[in-house]
Amino acid sequence: MQMTYDTFGGKKYCFCSKNCRQHFIEDPKIAYFSMEIGIANNIPTYSGGLGVLAGDIVKASADLRLQMVALTLASRKGYFKQKITPNGEQQEFPDEWDPSKSLFLMPKTVTVPIEGRQVKIQAWLYEHQSPTGGMVPILFLDTDLKENAAEDRGITDYLYGGDKRYRLKQEIVLGIGGVKMLKALNFKVRKYHMNEGHSALLTFELLKENSLDSERVRNLCVFTTHTPIEAAFDQFSYDLVEEVLGNDYMLSTLKQYAGPDNLNMTYLALNLSKYVNGVSRSHMEYSRKLFPGHYIRSVTNGVHSFSWTCLDFRMLFDKYIPGWATEPVLLVKAMDIPNHEVWNAHMRAKMKLIELVEKSTEVKFDPEVLTIGFARRATGYKRATLIFSDLHRLRDVNRRGKIQMVFAGKAHPRDEDGKRLIRAIYDYAHQLKDEIKVVYLENYDMDMAGKLTSGADVWLNTPVPPMEASGTSGMKAAHNGVVNFSVLDGWWLEGCVEGVTGWSIGPHPKDFVTEAERKEVELHDLYSKLEYLIVPTFYGQRDAWITLMKNSIARIAHYFQIQWVMRRYITEAYII
Ligand SMILES: *Cc1c(COP(=O)(O)O)cnc(C)c1O
Repeated sequence: MQMTYDTFGGKKYCFCSKNCRQHFIEDPKIAYFSMEIGIANNIPTYSGGLGVLAGDIVKASADLRLQMVALTLASRKGYFKQKITPNGEQQEFPDEWDPSKSLFLMPKTVTVPIEGRQVKIQAWLYEHQSPTGGMVPILFLDTDLKENAAEDRGITDYLYGGDKRYRLKQEIVLGIGGVKMLKALNFKVRKYHMNEGHSALLTFELLKENSLDSERVRNLCVFTTHTPIEAAFDQFSYDLVEEVLGNDYMLSTLKQYAGPDNLNMTYLALNLSKYVNGVSRSHMEYSRKLFPGHYIRSVTNGVHSFSWTCLDFRMLFDKYIPGWATEPVLLVKAMDIPNHEVWNAHMRAKMKLIELVEKSTEVKFDPEVLTIGFARRATGYKRATLIFSDLHRLRDVNRRGKIQMVFAGKAHPRDEDGKRLIRAIYDYAHQLKDEIKVVYLENYDMDMAGKLTSGADVWLNTPVPPMEASGTSGMKAAHNGVVNFSVLDGWWLEGCVEGVTGWSIGPHPKDFVTEAERKEVELHDLYSKLEYLIVPTFYGQRDAWITLMKNSIARIAHYFQIQWVMRRYITEAYII
């Protein structure tokens, strides 16, 4: 194939033909809107799974050479930097980054009305390039312009910071400002994909653009919901909306789609999207109960295989499964990799985690000891402390075969429950220090997630069902042969084959049990499977353990990867 090079936006691109270049510039794009995007570790504009998923979607779209443009907020002060005092108190610091250092300022600005002022928005361009030659631009919307009033310059500073009013302003910038920016920059848009409800005000701007023709807007919109309970939906009182957006802003139309009492961003997105999906089968079922009369589908999340496979396993896959990085479904061939090579790659990744633990906590982990990893946002329903519910039984496990544990995760600055969990883990670590090594690493981010999900032996997840709509960190673990041990919720209901791809904790949601019974089964599974299955297999049947590792790759990673997710969005949501 004759390749030609061309510059575009100041960078050099490889196009297979003139025709291909033409398509690149002119084809209508999927506009993917997300409040947070985690695309690179030095761009701190994400707080957890939602943002990391958005980043992975951008990467897979570039791999597939899909015509996509992604929009998010600049979040100049990031989510936050986490420090933890020796007794487990979380401290928060701004995590500033300067888009002008590495991003390209787009030549157009747009304005949105906020509290009667016209607030100006600019956009910073980040280009994610794939080795396949695909590229997806991300536009980081930013109100820090000197023409704006001081308070407006800070609207795009803190991800999930401030109060309701601040959040509403951010969502106006993202939804309304985003649509206007795409128009100003001459992007032609085929579909608007809302990753969670934060960007739902885009439907409102589209209604205005389309003379209130809701069918036309519905045909343009795709909505992915991530929230399994109504209380967690993003909502604003109409009084606040009127104060911030103004009363000439078609409030009655808004009420028609977003609910009569409050501006409910989930309802707004739901009512104006033709295609709506949950992020796992079980989440779809819960969503169908929440939204009777709506047809909700499911596309279970995935992770970007190349990004979440550690260096040692990348080398192994390159050797035995050529082409896996651009066609991750090939990972199904992982069963052919010799056991000792899988084990050696794992031990190298484990050593890197052990070095990180020692560097940040001065605790020396033993490479021969079964290492349990747990890391995600520190918030109530994730139940980071469940494994400490019965220290007597945990000590029994440790007598059967030694264990060590590594934790990480940030609590939202206003989540007192989440902060209490961090303190509690510090207390347990102290209580157990002469028997079981337990560490908590501070400032969890994507880099650390990569080290933890490749360096642990067992990846533990203990959410309160049905709160884990999908979950993705276990998929990262599976890519590195790290074995999952999780509550049956979200993606694990689909990924778990008991004793083959890992182990389950607690009853199946179809087993009708009371909450107290559920908790009892969970604790029973947690301790007895650790003591009688996991520890003995790890120490006593190394080949059986490595088969579990290979099953994780061949049966989980090959399927729970983001390219498959994108292929489904393309065929089921974008081409309709
Ligand atoms: C993958 C990832 C998550 C999501 O973890 P879950 O266990 O699915 O909640 C959160 N934070 C970071 C930094 C991640 O990389």
